Amino acid sequence: MPDARALDSLLRSRFGLPGFRPYQEAACQAVAAGRDVLLVMPTGAGKSLCYQLPGLARGGTTLVISPLIALMEDQVAKLRELGLEAERIHSGRDREASRRVCRDYLDGRLDFLFIAPERLAVAGFPELLAKRKPVLVAVDEAHCISHWGHDFRPDYRLLGGRLPLLRPAPLIAMTATATPQVQDDIAQQLGLADPARFIHGFRRTNLGVEVAEQTPAERHETVEHLLAQPERRPAIVYARTRKEAEALAALLAPRMSAAAYHAGMAAGARDQVQADFLAGALEVIVATIAFGMGIDKPDVRTVVHAGIPATLEGYYQEIGRAGRDGQPSRAVLLYSWADRRNHEYFLGVNFPPAEVLESVHRKLGPSPQPEDELREAVRLEPEVFGKALEKLWMHGGAEIDGEGNVRRGPAAWRGPYQALRNHREVQLEMAFRFAEAHGCRMLHLVRHFGDQEDSGAPCGQCDVCEPQGCAVRRFRAPGPHEAGRLEQVLDALLDRDGLSTGQIFRQLGGETGDLDRKLFEQWLGGLVRAGWVRLEADSFEKDGRTIAFQRAYLTREGRRSGLDVVAGVHLPDEPSAAERRSLAKKRASAARKGAAASGQRAADSAEADPERVEALRAWRLAESRRLAVPAFHVLHERTLLAIAAAAPRTEAALLAVPGMGPAKVQRWGAEILGVVRGCSDAPGDRPRPSPSP
Ligand code: ADP
Ligand code: ZN
Repeated sequence: MPDARALDSLLRSRFGLPGFRPYQEAACQAVAAGRDVLLVMPTGAGKSLCYQLPGLARGGTTLVISPLIALMEDQVAKLRELGLEAERIHSGRDREASRRVCRDYLDGRLDFLFIAPERLAVAGFPELLAKRKPVLVAVDEAHCISHWGHDFRPDYRLLGGRLPLLRPAPLIAMTATATPQVQDDIAQQLGLADPARFIHGFRRTNLGVEVAEQTPAERHETVEHLLAQPERRPAIVYARTRKEAEALAALLAPRMSAAAYHAGMAAGARDQVQADFLAGALEVIVATIAFGMGIDKPDVRTVVHAGIPATLEGYYQEIGRAGRDGQPSRAVLLYSWADRRNHEYFLGVNFPPAEVLESVHRKLGPSPQPEDELREAVRLEPEVFGKALEKLWMHGGAEIDGEGNVRRGPAAWRGPYQALRNHREVQLEMAFRFAEAHGCRMLHLVRHFGDQEDSGAPCGQCDVCEPQGCAVRRFRAPGPHEAGRLEQVLDALLDRDGLSTGQIFRQLGGETGDLDRKLFEQWLGGLVRAGWVRLEADSFEKDGRTIAFQRAYLTREGRRSGLDVVAGVHLPDEPSAAERRSLAKKRASAARKGAAASGQRAADSAEADPERVEALRAWRLAESRRLAVPAFHVLHERTLLAIAAAAPRTEAALLAVPGMGPAKVQRWGAEILGVVRGCSDAPGDRPRPSPSP
């Protein structure tokens, strides 16, 4: 086994690096010694080295499983620059090239082979790899395997079944984003044997996080104002919808170079925007979540969220793109109570109620029937039916054979599905709790990820730790009435330290309705920012449920007598909560009406040419057989019909079809366009590795 000195000398000789970064050495040693490893470190921390170095040290081929072609190409290019033999097999390469790579692999000529997870579904391919076992298997973006994560990808589910073929090689699973629950799930799904865990480095010392409550109507102006200061650029703004991304980019464009980036744009135009941003020709990019994976631009000064994200994991990844160069940077989150409705709407679409799944499950028989027949029998909208069947399949309630026929699976799907649906709700709840919390923002995030060695100290630069340094939030001194009320809170705690915040609220008259809870929370926040009060989470059990609440304690500073409340406390200088709420309500109801109307329009969409529909179905069936996945995993019926109706001739037009994302276009765009054109671009012609080289 390679000893520490051997690793150190490889680090210098092969990678040209002067020394290890924190935790890299320990992780490399564990992997080199043949242990399974789970590595959770933020983007940019240097995870790649933790498979590359031990892979070389073990002498043989390291197999790397990676979800994106761009990431693979990037890594292969970097390894080749170092003079290493690195290759990749993915859908963007022709058959001859893939064949050659397979031969090289079997001859033992490769140091690294990169493949996409879905390759392991191609008949014979895992067996081919197993003919000459890798010395190490590395799984990148490993959180994609977990339902509990924020970026679950069905292709990753294949890994658990196929990886045992490639053992006894050790396995390293890497991700920049996994809560303790997701970490456990990764370990279980990948079959890691008692893995060494390295979970480190979540505290960012040059990033000031700021959270401001604003109605959707206020946000655009805020963004404009914020980014008008040149020192806040380059910047990434995350918008909630494609439309909002366009609108914001248009608003900013007269004052600075800004452009939108989202999945509805033509691939070429999107690549241009990204390239311009990386090259510094574009200062602000206004993106939907489609932007950012694998982006390594060191000098991003500001990341703005124009709405609350669905999960804190996703949020942390996105703000992590600021300040890679170590210079001071800011992350600003704008949110309000109105954001909740948006998220709840999408949750309902993506996770239909269990009753809807039940109605599909009931119609399933013990013998296989065609999907189309089933859809007619259950009388659901095609989109809802597609989602429901997909979820049933994922949780075992429906079994789908290679012919695309469906039959009933065990009834045990219900519990796991409910659990997952609840989990999505909890994740959203956690995001709101973060936004509404009174404590240090960075500390909140670090604790969320279960960082093993964090100091637990406040960051000193977020909107809580340093109110004066805020980019968006504004504060004011308390008025005479407010000062009196703040003193009452301090008195209550002097009387009895550790009261729950609810008890204090009641003591101050909250029960009788004279005091708005929101206002009271602002006072608490002010006392926390002043450093006089600290809050701690607590919980109790009631009727089998865990109820969370907070206790308030005076700090040493807060116990001093003669505190000057007016000078020491900063309260938010923002419209009153009641004003906000009525505005938010109006907007939410308008938005709901708009959504209902556009749903209707989609349902009324043009009739599709039946011949084209049939051709697309035939292609989809062949593709789903080839990959051994259900047809809707390739294309939902709704999407298929929309493609047939739109009859796109270009990738851009295909991407504009609802339901088609960049990943699908990248993977199947050429084939689908071929089918639509009516030429003979049959699935059998697509490049793929041959099982027998
Ligand atoms: P991650 O995969 O965690 O996002 P990478 O592996 O891509 O991070 O590494 C980020 C950058 O840090 C790369 O440019 C890499 O070359 C550099 N790097 C990694 N380890 C070291 C090291 N020990 N010393 C100096 N630079 C390093
Ligand atoms: Zn802080």
